[in-house]
Amino acid sequence: MERERRFQGRENINVPILYEKDRQDSYHQAIMYNVSMDGMYFESNQMFSQGEYFFIKLKDPLPGFESVKPYDACAAQVKWCKKTKTDPSYKVGVKRLLKAEIFKKEAVETPTLCCELCANTSMQEVVKTDEQLYLCRNCFTYLSQLHGKTLKANINRFMVGNVI
Ligand SMILES: [Zn+2]
Repeated sequence: MERERRFQGRENINVPILYEKDRQDSYHQAIMYNVSMDGMYFESNQMFSQGEYFFIKLKDPLPGFESVKPYDACAAQVKWCKKTKTDPSYKVGVKRLLKAEIFKKEAVETPTLCCELCANTSMQEVVKTDEQLYLCRNCFTYLSQLHGKTLKANINRFMVGNVI
């Protein structure tokens, strides 16, 4: 109980994270200063748009970061972005969406380890979701934007073309 209560409070930290936005297919570094149950706050040298969806990778190992384990990746949506006095630097507050684990593709030699949605086999990393689906970062971030009960439900809706 004690642990749960602490988990729900905001934790002040100083942890490097990597993010990928705009499907650039490359990571950029940022520093996360604050994390809560469903959100986080970090500073970046890139500007974000409100409502924007993107992919976050939590670097390993993460001292003082027990509160968000066991996942090491998540999709996020930007709640706000403010320019700081230091240029170029932006404070970004995000809502955490789906979480996942990252696998290096070459580390696991099974043919299922390509994206189960787009079947892209060229990427370096795949994410494994809570529902045991393997997805590329783009598909994972995209599916996080859909408002379904589960990721599998989202994929089903996507497959039958029923996406709003
Ligand atoms: Zn994909």
